[in-house]
Amino acid sequence: MSGHVIVTGASRGIGAAIAEHFIALGENVVAFSRSGDAPTGCAATFALDVADSRAVNDAVKAAVTEFGPVETLVANAGVTHDGLAMRMSDDQWREVLSVNLDGAFYCARAAMASMVRARRGSIIFISSVSPFIGNPGQANYSAAKAGLVGLARSLAKEVASRSVTVNVVAPGLIDTDMTSSLGEASDALAAMIPLGHIGQPADIAGVVGFLASNLARYITGAVIAVDGGLAMGL
Ligand code: NAP
Repeated sequence: MSGHVIVTGASRGIGAAIAEHFIALGENVVAFSRSGDAPTGCAATFALDVADSRAVNDAVKAAVTEFGPVETLVANAGVTHDGLAMRMSDDQWREVLSVNLDGAFYCARAAMASMVRARRGSIIFISSVSPFIGNPGQANYSAAKAGLVGLARSLAKEVASRSVTVNVVAPGLIDTDMTSSLGEASDALAAMIPLGHIGQPADIAGVVGFLASNLARYITGAVIAVDGGLAMGL
């Protein structure tokens, strides 16, 4: 068994592009999402909520039994539920923290065991530039995405001796369902991007593919912005 790549939130947007990238490389790609939708060519799909630790553990176990150790985990599943902090409900806060941060932790914890045993592997968390530039209305999202950086750096030191790397990719404004509701605000944001346009999911997938490859074997604990220069210097 040669191992496999798990991509969470693979049903659309950035996650689908990441899954397609690894499928094109001939990898066994295991896709997680709530809907269970996934790009053609995935080796397996699981319809689950990443905030449900038991469901995550069961799915990772099943994937390891069928395809061998997890070579790469891309913890990409995410949601937004924006609102000004003074009016943000407990549920609004909890939902965003539990999917974006708890879910990423549950997936990493479940996948790490087989990586440590195999003495190889790569974990990549999809964060955002939001915590680095501070987005009004996104206190929940920014807190969760900032949390991924601390999570990644602690894990990176825990598993470095087993040749497992842990890194963070921080996308800027990317053209997906998540940003489609921005409408004209998207043009205003694009005007603030030094490269002058919003990014495509494939722009993120390429960097994730690099981090998962042998070319990046000496990179761990890094935060890489893929944002057209929006948060330059983060
Ligand atoms: P998207 O188009 O809204 O897709 C979100 C993905 O996450 C879907 O596949 C969705 O699948 C899955 N998902 C959501 N909640 C889930 C849950 N509880 N359990 C399992 N899967 C879940 O978003 P995107 O723009 O591709 O964003 C992908 C990641 O990049 C997110 O972490 C996001 O925060 C981050 N990001 C995006 C941007 C951007 O500009 N688009 C910028 C910075 C960071 P189902 O609906 O099938 O469950």
